[in-house]
Amino acid sequence: MKGEGLLIVISGFSGAGKGTLMKRLIEDYQNYALSISMTTRPPRQGEVEGREYFFATREQFEEKIAQDGFIEYASYCGNYYGTPRAYVESQLAAGKDVILEIEIQGAMKIKEKYPDALLLFVMPPSAKALYSRLTGRGTETEEVIQKRLSRAAEESVGIEGYDYVMINDDLEQCVRQLHQLLQDSHLAPVEEYKPVHHIEFIEEIRKQLQQLVKGEK
Ligand code: ADP
Ligand code: 5GP
Repeated sequence: MKGEGLLIVISGFSGAGKGTLMKRLIEDYQNYALSISMTTRPPRQGEVEGREYFFATREQFEEKIAQDGFIEYASYCGNYYGTPRAYVESQLAAGKDVILEIEIQGAMKIKEKYPDALLLFVMPPSAKALYSRLTGRGTETEEVIQKRLSRAAEESVGIEGYDYVMINDDLEQCVRQLHQLLQDSHLAPVEEYKPVHHIEFIEEIRKQLQQLVKGEK
């Protein structure tokens, strides 16, 4: 609809740096409204109710599903995650660009419901870097990290379903590139970030993730 903001979906493997990038994007630029999801996973140390997530029980989450309170929701590594409808719809109507930081099943549902949404997949420079970011964050047990790596290997199959890919190697550079890409894409599709131009890199990461999951570190 005319005057509406752009709906932007950011996905990427756990540990790729999505949360870090979103925090910086919001701090450095005033253009964006970041949707806060609801989840049934327990808060990590330092996470604040209503800032990183709205934390809920399974019962509360299922009640919100029944009320059609989410524009999408999905199950990820044993927990529910969902995007509350009211905030997204009001911000878009007010002309704001709204960012959803969500996983791949949710991203595909958004693409179906909102064909004009822009889908971007954030990649780590290598699977090894991903593993060291995940362990370095220090928020998950080795068992959960292994689950998330397996999930990353599965998700890597769907990268070509995204409009753009971006590599988060140097954080500062990535924040600038991301903002530029989001602004430019208001005008026309930005060719250089399309997955088709990064097939070799995507395939290399897929191979590395498979090896990592098999324990070949
Ligand atoms: P995600 O939200 O994708 O799961 P996080 O934003 O929590 O990932 O980042 C995972 C870890 O990697 C954090 O400890 C973060 O500080 C670190 N990190 C993020 N981006 C970079 C980067 N470009 N270079 C090095 N470390 C990074
Ligand atoms: P984490 O537990 O690391 O915060 O998030 C796990 C995964 O859930 C990440 O891939 C994150 O992008 C995704 N996620 C967070 N919120 C939502 C949401 O509202 N919907 C969906 N589908 N995925 C989400």
